Amino acid sequence: MLGLHLPEIQQHATPFYLYDLGLLRQTLATARAEAEKYGYHVHYALKANANAPILVEVLAHGFGADCVSGNEVQCALDAGFAPEHVVFAGVGKSDAEINLALDNNIFCFNCESSQELEVIHELAAAKGKVAQVALRINPNVDAYTHKHITTGLEENKFGINMWELEVLLPQLAQWTNIKLIGLHFHIGSQITDLRAFENLCARVNEIQQWFEDKGFTFPHLNVGGGLGVDYKHPDTNTIADFANYFAIFHKLLDKREGQQVHFELGRALVAACGTLISKVLYMKHGQKTNFVILDAGMTELMRPALYQAYHHIDNLTSTLPAKTYDVVGPICESTDSFSKAIQLPETKRGDLMAIRTAGAYGEVMANQYNLRNLVQAVYVN
Ligand SMILES: *Cc1c(COP(=O)(O)O)cnc(C)c1O
Repeated sequence: MLGLHLPEIQQHATPFYLYDLGLLRQTLATARAEAEKYGYHVHYALKANANAPILVEVLAHGFGADCVSGNEVQCALDAGFAPEHVVFAGVGKSDAEINLALDNNIFCFNCESSQELEVIHELAAAKGKVAQVALRINPNVDAYTHKHITTGLEENKFGINMWELEVLLPQLAQWTNIKLIGLHFHIGSQITDLRAFENLCARVNEIQQWFEDKGFTFPHLNVGGGLGVDYKHPDTNTIADFANYFAIFHKLLDKREGQQVHFELGRALVAACGTLISKVLYMKHGQKTNFVILDAGMTELMRPALYQAYHHIDNLTSTLPAKTYDVVGPICESTDSFSKAIQLPETKRGDLMAIRTAGAYGEVMANQYNLRNLVQAVYVN
């Protein structure tokens, strides 16, 4: 189930992340094959998980890199991604980060404001370079996902709003050290209602037409990422529906002759291959519930505390009849809770628990709050 048998799991000190590289390869190969049907380019969003062994597999399967910081750009380059396969997004790129990306001649900056475009122009001019840029447009499309991971609504800080373009477009001609090569969109994450992508296609088509009416054409369209995974059924629905996802864009996106279409997937590629393994420290009877207190908490996996995320939990060591529990971490915060009122086999101190589908936005957010040790990782082939 996790790529490793219980006796081997028991050899490692808890808590730790267990990565099933076999499952990762299977997921990457599936995504790759489905994207290739349409000649699509997929960039892996490093922010989901930037561990070296993960990046080795991503690179080997022919993906590019989608970065949101200078350190991610550097990490991608160090891992062996070619600069022409690196894109750089983010609302707040610092001068140092922009300079790093310019020095390395990355493929494209996905730009999120008029001021950022001007700064990139100035920094590129100082180096005698021309930077390739795409405009990240806020398409005002609802992703039907948790409000904390929605990014494509006008109330969100991301992207350039359509109404800003009337002022921005005439300025572009003056900024001679940037070259506009594309439009970029990213409406949110953990999107499981694929109608959100249908709506995105419709908006991209309108927006592309709007630009063309003003004389702008683009060799590249980047429609971002956001494809969700099934956190509820990790064993039966393990690989995301890449076939349907890419087919929607093939069917609905008005791709111009010769235009390249780019995607930026993070979660859907790496979530399933990671599991957080933790040991039960204590059992405690609360007023209304029984608590299972783990040796892992929000310091190892922040998603439940940050956006009320659900992760399926298995007790790996008990086969007793089920009871109802609240599973919590050891950190001094009430939000340090993984799951409330879930059914688990009767659980006792020392049992091993598997917190599933934790490969994306898990270990990358680990921290040392309460001066805890940083969580370790174990890889299995
Ligand atoms: C986070 C992010 C992604 C990846 O999102 P997933 O939901 O993990 O697929 C893609 N593009 C941008 C700009 C991002 O910020």
